[in-house]
Amino acid sequence: MVIVMRAGASLKAISEVLKKIEELGLKPHVSKGRERTIIGVIGRLTLEPEYFENLPEVEKVVRILSPFKLASREIKQDDSVFRLNGKVEIGGNHFVIMAGPCAVESREQILETAAALKEMGVKIIRGGAYKPRTSPYTFQGLKEKGLEYLKEVKEKTGLAIVTEVLSVEDVDKVSQVADILQVGARNMQNYPLLEALGKIDRPVLLKRGMMSTLEELLMSAEYILSNGNPRVILCERGIRTFEKYTRNTFDVSAIPMLKKLSHLPVIADPSHGTGVRDLVIPVSKAALAAGANGLIVEVHPDPSSALSDGFQSLDFKSFGRMLEDLKAIAGACGREL
Ligand code: PEP
Ligand code: MN
Repeated sequence: MVIVMRAGASLKAISEVLKKIEELGLKPHVSKGRERTIIGVIGRLTLEPEYFENLPEVEKVVRILSPFKLASREIKQDDSVFRLNGKVEIGGNHFVIMAGPCAVESREQILETAAALKEMGVKIIRGGAYKPRTSPYTFQGLKEKGLEYLKEVKEKTGLAIVTEVLSVEDVDKVSQVADILQVGARNMQNYPLLEALGKIDRPVLLKRGMMSTLEELLMSAEYILSNGNPRVILCERGIRTFEKYTRNTFDVSAIPMLKKLSHLPVIADPSHGTGVRDLVIPVSKAALAAGANGLIVEVHPDPSSALSDGFQSLDFKSFGRMLEDLKAIAGACGREL
């Protein structure tokens, strides 16, 4: 349930509510809005709302009906906004761009990409060091070496790093380099991994599973939030359907629906979402117009020689063109790029 305090409620009244919750052995979740403080109580559902309703300066008590609680709009009406390294805003009016190759393939490849992206104003570079591949015979990523190159990119360019973590054992190692840890579609329901990511102090980019409903995505986010990490970014990356001309079917409606159901930032991955280079730009525009908070997009210095996902990667020139198009749309939508 959610306890809504009166506008401008005193600290004393708020602490009294928190004390009551803790006395019951439950966990309070405080969120301070512009006007009001609201306190979520996660745990025993048998508790009667009157128990809190009669405390001083409590306006009302509302039960959260959705199965996801901390991720829900009911618990927090304002959008969650994170600042990455005190600089890049994720979740607000700013449309954030994360771009880079599917995989870190070599020191030269990632440094060249980083330099080009930085020149174009991008602040966050993507690149997998650990790659979840369908075939065990294809390129599996450079692993530790890949992390080393990403670290060098960060030191040399100041770009923030988003990279995937595949298993619980790698969480520490990846956190030392990554500014955002990515959970791939195939791992969206890897609950031990989600729990481990709930205990770190880094934002987590959680991709929608390829056969997952939005409720399942939000329940996965709930695992991270309920373990103590409030910085979760949701990502629509397409789902599997009967359609064969595209790799996945990008669900543009997921963006406004997630924004309606949750306060968490929502970004789009038009690269995996379509699997077709020519569709990346139009789908990116649609995602921005639909209210996404940003994009994660695959960009490669020479897509034709990429070791993974070259067919859906943009080269620097077309990526630059895309940014120009997006700026125009952002302007029309009252957003900043
Ligand atoms: C990726 O971003 O490189 C990736 C593997 O994406 P997904 O998990 O969405 O397939
Ligand atoms: Mn990829």
